Amino acid sequence: MTGAATAPRAMTLDDYVPLLGPQEIDELRAIAAPLAGRSVQMVNSTAVGGGVAEILNRLIPLIQELGLAPRWDVMTGGNDFFEVTKAFHNALHGGPYDPRPQDFETFLAYSEQNRARLAFDAEFTVIHDPQPAALIDARSGTSGHWIWRCHIDLSRPNRDVWEFLRPFVCRYDGALFSAPDFARQLPIPQYLVYPCIDPLSDKNRDLEPETVAAIADRFGIDRARPIVAQISRFDRLKDPIGVLRAYQIVKRYTDLQLVLAGGGASDDPEGESVLAEVRDAAEGDPDVHILSLPPWSAIEINALQRASTIIVQKSLREGFGLTVTEALWKKQPVVASAVGGIPAQVIHKHTGLLAHSVEGTAYQIRFLLSHPALARKLGEQGHEHVREHFLITSNVRRYLTLFLGMS
Ligand code: UDP
Repeated sequence: MTGAATAPRAMTLDDYVPLLGPQEIDELRAIAAPLAGRSVQMVNSTAVGGGVAEILNRLIPLIQELGLAPRWDVMTGGNDFFEVTKAFHNALHGGPYDPRPQDFETFLAYSEQNRARLAFDAEFTVIHDPQPAALIDARSGTSGHWIWRCHIDLSRPNRDVWEFLRPFVCRYDGALFSAPDFARQLPIPQYLVYPCIDPLSDKNRDLEPETVAAIADRFGIDRARPIVAQISRFDRLKDPIGVLRAYQIVKRYTDLQLVLAGGGASDDPEGESVLAEVRDAAEGDPDVHILSLPPWSAIEINALQRASTIIVQKSLREGFGLTVTEALWKKQPVVASAVGGIPAQVIHKHTGLLAHSVEGTAYQIRFLLSHPALARKLGEQGHEHVREHFLITSNVRRYLTLFLGMS
């Protein structure tokens, strides 16, 4: 051991000036000024793992620095609750599901428990995703503004689950969706809000090439041969087995490696079994690196994304896919499924390549491996696309204008 590590300095708004210019940051301060001191409560269902936690970790300190008074609460529940909410999640994404009456009872019982446990007195309450949606029961009278922020693809939801949730959603003052297709028939205003990444976080900041090399070496990845990677929770909707099949097709022609890296999220009970399925399916191929990462792996993920030749995101359904945003920001060529929020990020042949099947994914990987100049160009254009639309500062601005409009 070399002694205690120094805690990294917390980023402030001024740190974004070199990247975005002073005007963007001054504008944020101006928009925030009339909201000074106003309270904001964000509620979701996990503090680590997954895109929502990733965003809230940065959104909260920036909103605070801008003079508002934000707070972040995490819904708690037993395994039975998260098994139900994961089933709801998959069903809302359009998967098959035959809900039992006790599933709805479990959902409501934990909502009630959390309603009693948490305080709800903020001027703006933002409830993220279906898990805490029924917390709207905590709303007293007409005080405060309640917003439902949905991060998932609701374009083809399971009818039973959506009919159960919809009456709760209708009681909010507005609903935020990540893509126009996700909007539903609702009697409340609906807004388009893109998710975002923080360019200065450990997950996305520039890394020294030596750091990238050292981390790739540590995982036993050979940097001399092409590396195709998907970095995502081990979740069937991320289709890691499909990625493996695509790799196996490409492997017939090219000597490449596959990295499948990801951890779990505390609100996702399926991770372990999916990881075991993937390990089984890889059948001990030494060129397939299946990495189960702990939640504190931001720099490792950053390095793996940078060390890769191509980043794949072969999701079957996807709310937005921050892993795609992260890869584009790093100027990496991306091959991704044309589902959910991904086409807002991967504009085919402009910021990456879209695919619709295992074979299509394999074809696009082969194409990029044999056209490195085009791959570089897609990466450059992807970076600019993210800078324009999907950075944390845009997300902060969106929330501030929404709060201003509601108050
Ligand atoms: N992520 C992580 N560790 C992992 C896998 C993913 O920190 O093992 C991060 C990933 O870098 C991204 C987020 O979790 O920031 C995943 O967001 P995305 O929208 O891609 O998918 P979700 O998991 O929310 O469905």
